Amino acid sequence: MGIFQLPDALANKIAAGEVVERPASVVKELIENSIDAGSTVISIDLFEAGLQKIKVTDNGDGMTEEDAEKAFLRHATSKIKNETDLFRVSTLGFRGEALASIAAVSRLTVKTSQGDQAGTLLSLEGGVVKDHSKSDARKGTEITVEDLFFNTPARLKYMKTIHTELGHVTDLLNRLALSHPDIRFELRHNDKTLFKTTGSGDLLQVISQVYGMSAAKKMLPMQHETLDFSINGYIAKPEVTRASRNYISIIINGRYIKSMQLSQAIIRGYHTLLPVGRYPITVLAIEMDPILVDVNVHPTKLEARFSKDQELVTAIEETIRSVFRRTSLIPEIEQKKADQTTVSIQDSMPLETPQTTNQLQESNQLVNEHQPGMEASGSAHSNWQEASPKANGDTDIHWNAIDTRHTEVPHTSEQGPVSSDEGDARIPAIYPIGQLHGTYILGQNENGFYMIDQHAAQERIKFEQFRDKLGQAPNELQELLIPLTFDFSRQESIFIEQHKDELANVGLFFEPFGNQSYIIRSHPVWFPDGFEEEIIREMIEQIMQHESIDIEAIREDAAALMSCKRSIKANHYLNHEDMAILLENLRKAKDPFTCPHGRPILIYFSSYELEKMFKRVM
Ligand code: ADP
Ligand code: MG
Repeated sequence: MGIFQLPDALANKIAAGEVVERPASVVKELIENSIDAGSTVISIDLFEAGLQKIKVTDNGDGMTEEDAEKAFLRHATSKIKNETDLFRVSTLGFRGEALASIAAVSRLTVKTSQGDQAGTLLSLEGGVVKDHSKSDARKGTEITVEDLFFNTPARLKYMKTIHTELGHVTDLLNRLALSHPDIRFELRHNDKTLFKTTGSGDLLQVISQVYGMSAAKKMLPMQHETLDFSINGYIAKPEVTRASRNYISIIINGRYIKSMQLSQAIIRGYHTLLPVGRYPITVLAIEMDPILVDVNVHPTKLEARFSKDQELVTAIEETIRSVFRRTSLIPEIEQKKADQTTVSIQDSMPLETPQTTNQLQESNQLVNEHQPGMEASGSAHSNWQEASPKANGDTDIHWNAIDTRHTEVPHTSEQGPVSSDEGDARIPAIYPIGQLHGTYILGQNENGFYMIDQHAAQERIKFEQFRDKLGQAPNELQELLIPLTFDFSRQESIFIEQHKDELANVGLFFEPFGNQSYIIRSHPVWFPDGFEEEIIREMIEQIMQHESIDIEAIREDAAALMSCKRSIKANHYLNHEDMAILLENLRKAKDPFTCPHGRPILIYFSSYELEKMFKRVM
């Protein structure tokens, strides 16, 4: 078998398979080059979702004629020179393969100038230069990519509908805009503007463009510095949740990345504030010395590895917790509009109810349906990602329908009816008026009117009591009069054998009883009566999943379980005194806003909003 070195054109075509997956990947590489060239205005024109034509125009540094020719050679880059540079990359590109790859599978024209003299025009077809001439001297670069994949029909066959391909591009634009609030982006499709940012540098303004004004209004700023990291961004109040993790955006040194580890740190920061299966909207921009991050893990650089990752994880989690400790999280009801008196209330749990807020301009609809971080690039490598969220699974508790067509900058309102002389309490004193449907306590104070879910409130109170109690309980063992017997699957029993020591450490001694059955003769005293089996099963599950047991998490789950089972349910009559005691106890809770499963406990109508509803004020 003879060995040949592949001709450049063929090698580039093969390399293109890695970098150029679909129109969105071309747009990504071109925009990243524009950003690296210091552009402040970048416009993108697409025709037929980019399959027919993609044009990216920037006002960056431009290239000399000589560089413009070199730019299309494989591994030609101006961004790194040696190995030392590779570990300190501060640009988005550095592999020097994007332009060569894109040119190999399209008809490409570049016009570029550094602004001081006539510019250069180069046309290539399948990577081969067909035309070389002068162009105008406008500073910047304009790259047009036509007939993508014209010479790789197999790849062309994989393209989905215009709608899907366009969705990938709008996703990408959302992410790039969130990563670069200081750059003005404009995306047009078939001559119609789809998405636009101002480049004002205000991240909250971009968030409002990407997620809508009502979500932006519910964002809380967060900021934290450690020796190695600077973390800045916005996190949504827990009342605004989404059905998938795709709304968690992480930006490292201006590069949007996917990181399971950091997303989990964010979710842990929300702790019990999120309903089960719901995720927050967050945008975190993290700056660090480039030496601490390796972005060369994946061809499209969507994933990254960190040194000092534990320090970063802890910083993120703690900062988010501290933001919530400082903020009142009672959802406030606002009137829709001056001329509409109806107030439609949605639950924060997934509902069938369509969103009442007509927040999207037609042209923004597309952008908002496709959120950052779907599968635009390299999704095959991020197997934890979820399917695109559906609009109606994403209901928020935002009763105030704000017309987002005015994109003035939203201001996060510090809606806090707690006055500062209230000591440790995070909610004000609320006095009961009565009970609604045996389920909700109606209450008032000088700030306004409150509705409290009695079950959720009691669950929270009991949860915190149980958690404290279980947290302090010693790990002593209690002998059982009648031993517990467990039958496990083959796989479970293998794990039990393997992790005998860890289980013994938390006070569980499994005695084999033949046929994958085991006997437990004692358990730690803190196991609440009636929940022994459930807790033991949960420990086994943890071992299977994480190969270790987080005893604190187990104790917390046990507390949640007990509090739910032992709390007053809906449809249960409470007298005035019961209600007063419940509200007083709620006020003593550390986190009085949600039950341990993240459902809201109380909602609030300010006196002003009430007056507006009844048109006592205009
Ligand atoms: P990389 O970005 O990894 O360096 P590319 O193939 O994407 O590789 O680009 C090759 C080179 O072409 C870049 O290093 C840069 O010098 C130049 N270049 C590409 N696009 C632009 C642009 N829009 N403005 C200025 N220079 C550019
Ligand atoms: Mg590049």
